[in-house]
Amino acid sequence: MKYLLISMLLMSCNAPQSNKVVAPGLDAAITTQTTMTTDTIVPAQFDATGQLVKVVKTNDAWKSQLTPQEFEVLREEGTERSFTGDLVNNHEKGTFVCAGCGLPLFSSEAKFESGTGWPSFFQPIKPEYVKINSDTKYGMVREEVECARCGGHQGHVFNDGPEPTGLRYCINSVSLNFVKN
Ligand SMILES: [Zn+2]
Repeated sequence: MKYLLISMLLMSCNAPQSNKVVAPGLDAAITTQTTMTTDTIVPAQFDATGQLVKVVKTNDAWKSQLTPQEFEVLREEGTERSFTGDLVNNHEKGTFVCAGCGLPLFSSEAKFESGTGWPSFFQPIKPEYVKINSDTKYGMVREEVECARCGGHQGHVFNDGPEPTGLRYCINSVSLNFVKN
């Protein structure tokens, strides 16, 4: 009787696991839905004075919205390891939006191969959609790129990019979501 009970318990423990194996597609779909809530373009809005309407949230609110890696990069100015981001080798036509608020930041038309291992662009969709700050961390003077609407850290901009701007916006994949045309 004792053995029967144990084996029944084991069977009931196994049941949900075997479900998972049977329907991997379903699991993947659920994961995508919960982690990529801003995988759409959320257009900019402007107030009566023509200023971009900002998105302001508490750290706790960001924490519950973002994945831990997104939070670290977007809200704590972290940097993903080069060549690890999922958008480095993305060559599809579409729009790269802020992973925090969905503001359309970069077009695939402005993406180029920099060889750095981070998605690189020669210009933002609109200059007013990015905010540039001076960053003196690590003993270097660099120009930090933020989303102008939610303040999410995107990466840095350097002046060794290709024509027509000569700029290289070096952006974390984690900070962006891609919306295919
Ligand atoms: Zn944003």
